[in-house]
Amino acid sequence: MSDLSNGAAWMDGRIIPVSEAGINVTDWGLTHSDIAYDVVPVWNGAFFRLDDYLNRFLASVTAVRMQTGLERDAIIRVLHNMVAASGLRASYVAMVAARGRNPVPGSRDPRDCQNHFYAWCVPYVHIVKPDAADRGTSVWIAKSVRRIPKDSVNPTVKNYHWGDFTSGLFEAKDNGFETTMLLDHDGNVTEGPGFNVFAVFGDTVVTSDHGVLHGITRRTALEMAAARGLKVETRPLPLDEFRQADEVFLSSSGGGVIPVARVDEQHFSNGAAGPVARQLRTDYFAWLEQDRFRTPISYY
Ligand SMILES: *Cc1c(COP(=O)(O)O)cnc(C)c1O
Repeated sequence: MSDLSNGAAWMDGRIIPVSEAGINVTDWGLTHSDIAYDVVPVWNGAFFRLDDYLNRFLASVTAVRMQTGLERDAIIRVLHNMVAASGLRASYVAMVAARGRNPVPGSRDPRDCQNHFYAWCVPYVHIVKPDAADRGTSVWIAKSVRRIPKDSVNPTVKNYHWGDFTSGLFEAKDNGFETTMLLDHDGNVTEGPGFNVFAVFGDTVVTSDHGVLHGITRRTALEMAAARGLKVETRPLPLDEFRQADEVFLSSSGGGVIPVARVDEQHFSNGAAGPVARQLRTDYFAWLEQDRFRTPISYY
């Protein structure tokens, strides 16, 4: 069998190397970014919060009127078998529903498209390198773009409409920053490419509830904060207020809680990872190992 250790994909019932997996050039998933997806982490040989990720994925698929043709249990089996075949014990596992091809060339009727499901996995992704995250990363607020409005593309459906994020990432990289976060058209903090954003004020942790994906790591961060006796608030977060924060951090399935030391030219927590963010980062890696959240994989 070919080597799957760099990643595996499941397509049409077959498990293949991720480097060989592709979709058709006329698939609406490609031509119109018409995809609903999700990403569940595998850590130390087990899925983390698999039910929560699947619930979000299935809700997304329904929200965009797609059908995968697979029941929940079948999707779980696919993910399980694919990761087991790859042998990866720490992995970024994507499940994707694509609009598919329309059998009538040029048709604009989305109802006729042949939706399809596929999945792929690669070695675990840290959206910020762990040592940079430990020190506190840098975030550039995008100037040329705002987050696509929530009444234009539903941000609670994990999607491939990354035009705004990609513009922000170019700005960030050109200015020497690690990543970017976007404001909405009312000047509130939203999110960044694959992460939610938090501000800490004293013993209160705040993150936006509007115009953002409801990240599973966001939820974990809020639960961990509450377990530490911190207050949590989910509400709009205006930039002016955000700038008064004692600490800032990000949350993502790709690396957990990520402390932020600098946003544009402003330093937070003395230009280092703040104490609350550091505690929650440590807690996250501990929670990844807790049995109540784990679905172990049987590797061959
Ligand atoms: C995936 C993602 C997040 C983070 O969600 P998690 O479930 O914590 O990984 C936040 N915002 C966007 C736009 C995302 O795509």
